Amino acid sequence: MNKKIGLFWLRDDFRLSKNKGLIEATTNHDQVVVFYLYKKESYKNQEAQKWWLSKSLSNFKKRLNNLNINLEIIETNSFKIFFDKLIKKKDFSIYWNKVYEPNYLKFDEYLLRAMKNKNIYSRRFKGNTLNEINEIKKNDGTPFKVFTPFWRAAEKFYIEKIPLKEKIIKKCKKKINYFKNCIDSEKILPKKKWFKKFEKIWFPDDEIALKELQNFIKERITNYSEGRNFPNIIGTSKLSPYIKFGQLHVETIWDECIKKKLKTNGKSKFLAEIGWREFNHSLINYFPHMLNNNYSKKFDKFPWEKNSNFLNAWKKGLTGYPIVDAGMRELFSTGWMHNRVRMIVGSFLVKHLLINWKEGEKYFRNCLLDYSPASNVAGWQWVAGSGADAAPYFRIFNPILQGEKFDNEGLYVKKWVPELKNLSKKFIHRPWEFDNEKFKLGRDYPYPIVRHEEARLKALNAFKKI
Ligand SMILES: Cc1cc2nc3c(=O)[nH]c(=O)nc-3n(C[C@H](O)[C@H](O)[C@H](O)COP(=O)(O)OP(=O)(O)OC[C@H]3O[C@@H](n4cnc5c(N)ncnc54)[C@H](O)[C@@H]3O)c2cc1C
Repeated sequence: MNKKIGLFWLRDDFRLSKNKGLIEATTNHDQVVVFYLYKKESYKNQEAQKWWLSKSLSNFKKRLNNLNINLEIIETNSFKIFFDKLIKKKDFSIYWNKVYEPNYLKFDEYLLRAMKNKNIYSRRFKGNTLNEINEIKKNDGTPFKVFTPFWRAAEKFYIEKIPLKEKIIKKCKKKINYFKNCIDSEKILPKKKWFKKFEKIWFPDDEIALKELQNFIKERITNYSEGRNFPNIIGTSKLSPYIKFGQLHVETIWDECIKKKLKTNGKSKFLAEIGWREFNHSLINYFPHMLNNNYSKKFDKFPWEKNSNFLNAWKKGLTGYPIVDAGMRELFSTGWMHNRVRMIVGSFLVKHLLINWKEGEKYFRNCLLDYSPASNVAGWQWVAGSGADAAPYFRIFNPILQGEKFDNEGLYVKKWVPELKNLSKKFIHRPWEFDNEKFKLGRDYPYPIVRHEEARLKALNAFKKI
């Protein structure tokens, strides 16, 4: 057993199983310390996730305590400054898992080199994907830009992999403190008490995540292909924040799904969604410019409009389009929004209001508990039409018809927009046709901020310009 201290750098891996770096640290060392580097600046526009992060840290600390492992949180402005100082101590070996974002992977290379130069043992392991990014390429060695062939290749590659024998985490002999000036997880909580509502619905913990997965597979996966379209029922897994923070490894999702024998295609549809996540991570690493700019350069000339009144009405769920307003209010209240509705509200912002997708991306980043740079940017660019394998620009979601198709009884709308609760099915997605004494537009609910048909034509004209 190695006499040095084993340090595990915790990033998006709040779990005890399938945590290769942490498991290796406990295999090699009697004494292990897990540390989290909190960069306040990075979380500046991720208020909802500050809550999830803070809770994840305090829950994971308790789990690690039982294994005689301390979790220490250090606030820093720069990973580089932190590690350049740490490297001067030589009493440790260090382990971590990959985060598949270009900045992280680039920093990893620096850190591995710096540790090697100082003869400090360091190892980096596979992160939360089925395959490594560079394992899935086209036959000619170039990256996939279209999802279906990507996922066909990725699934095949994963199935043919020879599974390694899964190691399990070991209890350490003695718990120790290693870092000075650590902070408490409470310090990370957002200043506004907005997150109080989240506490009633989400439990950021890896044991809970596994139970949620098993429950989804038992109760909902059979009808997933259908059920995933309707926002008024719980038809999807709602596992996205757990996956983002690594409370669930996607290999665990795969293993649990494979155990279930099904006659419907719910399982393969569900795994294909995990595939979309994997595809998005591949895209941002091969085409990192898309994290801040249009993937498709021709969109650089798109005549976006700036209209803070429209943008604010969209954020607050006061556009006058019930399904859009319901989605935006669900997001603000729960830190999550149904995928179908993410597409509808996204399309409305970009195509009806002609507001740059980057504004929507920024707002989602601040409000989503599952925010991930890969899936958020790719999701927004898919909606806008500027992304790889994106929805064609001329496909403009009609918020009235989308509402009538996917929330036919208006139950989702009534849940989040209670001022419409007395409207019948006939009017729930077109309240402007219901104006009467008891329900006045402009008083009880806003007038639509744009007219659908006019906005559609304007968007199509704008598109012609590029
Ligand atoms: C504009 C927009 C922004 C989005 N931003 C994010 C984001 O920041 N983070 C995020 O995780 N997802 C994002 N998505 C994708 C998707 O909406 C969510 O992953 C999904 O709604 C999460 O709910 P769920 O866990 O119940 O999904 P399920 O339907 O149960 O799917 C299981 C898992 O597959 C993955 N997944 C599902 N759909 C997608 C998809 N379309 N793209 C990529 N991965 C997917 C997620 O990890 C999800 O948890 C975005 C989609 C759009 C249209």
